Amino acid sequence: MNSTDQQMIHSRSRAAFLGLALGDALGATTEFMLPAEIRSSYQIHNRIIGGGWLGIKAGQVTDDTEMSLALAHAVLDAGAWNLQQIADYFVAWMRSKPIDIGATVRKGIRTYLHNGTLEMPFNEWDAGNGAAMRMCPVALLSYGNSELLKRYTLEQAHLTHHHPLSDAGCLCIGKMLHAAVAGADRFALHELTRELVRQHPNFRFNNYNGQASGYIVDTLRTVFHFLFTTADFEECLVGVVNQGGDADTTGAIAGMIAGALYGEGSLPRHWMKKLNRTVRTDIELITPRLLTLAPAFDQTGWSS
Ligand code: MN
Ligand code: MN
Repeated sequence: MNSTDQQMIHSRSRAAFLGLALGDALGATTEFMLPAEIRSSYQIHNRIIGGGWLGIKAGQVTDDTEMSLALAHAVLDAGAWNLQQIADYFVAWMRSKPIDIGATVRKGIRTYLHNGTLEMPFNEWDAGNGAAMRMCPVALLSYGNSELLKRYTLEQAHLTHHHPLSDAGCLCIGKMLHAAVAGADRFALHELTRELVRQHPNFRFNNYNGQASGYIVDTLRTVFHFLFTTADFEECLVGVVNQGGDADTTGAIAGMIAGALYGEGSLPRHWMKKLNRTVRTDIELITPRLLTLAPAFDQTGWSS
């Protein structure tokens, strides 16, 4: 692999992680709103202004980005994939009194805290999107190896969510990120969504019904509908967050995939200016380090 390819991979990886944070910061404003309420308040919500039910500052992020950063730092500090360290960092994050935490996430972290369990049992109510929102660092840490992607994905997901639809959704996001970071186009990404729909037909997203809830099926149908009916990063994210519902998380997941697909140059400047400085700097520093731990990398550089 030559150095231009390496630069592209680094750049698209940064765009994925920054895209996640931008989607979170943008979508937090319209989380739990109905599309009609959003229209009457903003006409179109397309600026990072904070507010929302959490009352955040403009550019502040929520649990989606925070848990992704906690996972990334856990692995970087351990020097290799380490599920226990990830669980410990999730505990520390929960104890830091985050601005928001999902019920299933809280239950998973509490269970680990009380009896050291690293895998929640199957639960039919665990089909939320809380494991899927953490997929960006997982995809970067396993970049170049689909078996490792699968192992890391299921391990980190089952810390909090253990459900076949969450598992399948997380894996699909991971595969789309691997492909997009490698330079795949929208048609290749669409084929990966078709694979998911063949396995689990409820993810079908033609005839999108407008439901944008935290249920992983609604979340991914929303993300895929806007990803494949828009032409750039900004248009995709604006479409997603104006659907309301779990808008920060649909925004975060759309942001990571669209960021990797369209690249760093597509991230709107006026949004990047608003994004919390500490978060932005942290993401820019850790993204190349996550790739260094990926199997596609060896001591002398990228393997070909
Ligand atoms: Mn959130
Ligand atoms: Mn959310």
